[in-house]
Amino acid sequence: MNIYLDEASTSEYKRKDDAIVSAMMFAMNNCWANPSSLYSDGEEVREEINKCRKNIAKFINAKPDEVIFTSGASESNNMALRGWDDYIWLNTYKSANIITTHTEHKSILKLLEDGNIGSVVHFCEVDEHGRVKIDSLIRLLEKCYKKNESVLVSICAANNEIGTTQNLKDIADIVHTYNGVFHTDATQMFGKLPIDIKELDVDMMSVSGHKISPVLKGVGFLYKKSSVNIQPLIYGNQEFGLRGGTDNTFGIIGLSKAIEYCDLSNDSIREMYSKRNYFIGSLKAKFDCKLNGHPFYRLPNNINVTFPQNITGESLLYVLDMSGVAVSTGSACNSKAIEPSHVLKAIGLSDDEAMKTVRFTIPENITYEEIDAVVCEIEKSLKLIEAV
Ligand code: PMP
Repeated sequence: MNIYLDEASTSEYKRKDDAIVSAMMFAMNNCWANPSSLYSDGEEVREEINKCRKNIAKFINAKPDEVIFTSGASESNNMALRGWDDYIWLNTYKSANIITTHTEHKSILKLLEDGNIGSVVHFCEVDEHGRVKIDSLIRLLEKCYKKNESVLVSICAANNEIGTTQNLKDIADIVHTYNGVFHTDATQMFGKLPIDIKELDVDMMSVSGHKISPVLKGVGFLYKKSSVNIQPLIYGNQEFGLRGGTDNTFGIIGLSKAIEYCDLSNDSIREMYSKRNYFIGSLKAKFDCKLNGHPFYRLPNNINVTFPQNITGESLLYVLDMSGVAVSTGSACNSKAIEPSHVLKAIGLSDDEAMKTVRFTIPENITYEEIDAVVCEIEKSLKLIEAV
């Protein structure tokens, strides 16, 4: 058996369309020139990158010059938050505030740790499913508004561990009522659910390429509404002066190709939900697992469950790995750490429950037979671990 169920960590190469890899291979052979060079080879590459920018902008209903290519979502998150913070300090002499949650990705939380940023950091409460508590958000926004201070709100569109999605439009409207700026980390939502940036009225959004297809690691973008100002993290001429560095041409071409293969039709998403729900149903029926994250407002590919059996998620991961099934016990960025996931703790799980938790993130074209086979393998693995 060889079943990869860790799509949230990175997208599996084998299951995806070869056209994406071919597009990158073609680029490696033909688009090698520096896109900033003035001679024709360079101009051709620049033209190609601009085509990709337009294609990606269209996919999220943005303008091409609102798409800033980066090395991925960690950089985009840092760029949005630190870039905004720097801009406010350089241009106004007022205090600034950042409101976020304890369930964000570590690229946000580490940046906001004491002393790394000028803004005062506030944490908005989330409920037991990881959804933002709107009354808590309003209370924090009101405080900043009353003091006439600047505020940026950063809330993940869909959590990478528990898959819970937020109502971005409602949050954006509330943030704007208090003259705030709204950033969302859409790394896990992009390519899985439709995103119309104009309709949602989000101000900045982080995206990573390798989560949706076998795009080279190390490419992504920050969507930034034209009216929002930030300072660069990396100074230079490229990307409208907001992100210096020679462009990752092959990655950008791969990312642009990959979105052409994202099937976000209602039928396709509905089918994904059906497979996911079938998987969840089988796990609950067989093992009496508890589902973490929201039962309805969750990504179509995410399953995060706590096992009641006397095992750890880690031991299950290793035994399943021996049978060729790849799963995760948290996000890839901290899967080597043995401490319980900060996300699970933030939604109220005990250390013990968090340690008994496994995340399955399924590819679109997984079959019902494969799901049955995995459930069977889990059953065998649990028996083996409990017998030791
Ligand atoms: N944000 C979220 C929600 C993620 O899941 C990840 C990847 N684990 C990142 C940010 C970082 O993405 P990248 O690998 O592109 O830096």
